[in-house]
Amino acid sequence: MTRSFAIAALVVIAPLAARAAPCPGNPDALGTERLLAVGANSTPRVGRKEFPVTLPLGKKELVLTFDDGPWPTTTPKVLDALKHECVLATFFLVGRNVAAHPALARRELAEGHSVGHHSFSHPLLNRMAPAKAEAEIDRGIAQDEFALYGRRRNDPTTPFFRFPGFASNGMLLDWLQERHIVVFGADVWASDWLPMTPAQELQLILSRIERIGSGIVLLHDIKAQTAAMLPAFLRELKRRGYRIVHVVPAGNGGNPH
Ligand SMILES: [Zn+2]
Repeated sequence: MTRSFAIAALVVIAPLAARAAPCPGNPDALGTERLLAVGANSTPRVGRKEFPVTLPLGKKELVLTFDDGPWPTTTPKVLDALKHECVLATFFLVGRNVAAHPALARRELAEGHSVGHHSFSHPLLNRMAPAKAEAEIDRGIAQDEFALYGRRRNDPTTPFFRFPGFASNGMLLDWLQERHIVVFGADVWASDWLPMTPAQELQLILSRIERIGSGIVLLHDIKAQTAAMLPAFLRELKRRGYRIVHVVPAGNGGNPH
């Protein structure tokens, strides 16, 4: 092989390798198509259910997000399903659950997922006195950071936050933006807080995704019906040609990690 050919081959192969790393034990996996660095400077608030804008996603690109965990009966099943398909997602943790199940939060991180924050005890923050709401957000972040990284600090390693019940207000949104914390809403959800069978939930979320075409998908890893339908959901996304985008903190200069 000549030197110039070797260099040309590297240039061609590198982006493909980043995109389509082989999935151990599952050659037909859905996989994770690409990383998307997300920072508060360019996208402080995303998700059209709540805000006027969302992430810069292409056609049929989805970001998968899971709220309210970790939970011992369901989160491991969700993680197993994601791992089997080599899909990377984002978890928004409830600090109270992290305090009870810290090893599960660490498993999410260890398996490459992004781990963001969702308050300590899941109250509707827009109805609380501002100082109390801020303290509740910070307590959740500190609890999550302690479990994940061994440091009880309220400056989050992954500066992603989602409001419980999407109950934000202008003051809290401004406060988070000043701290460079990205607020995630969603573009589509499974309504998995309502009782339904896994099959019903699968049909519902697929029909809603088909309607919007791309966006941030909200699911709950504490819900048994969601954990149960996830393997079939991921297979169906693959069959229908959807692609998974993994959001990571923009960090210094917009580089992932
Ligand atoms: Zn929630």
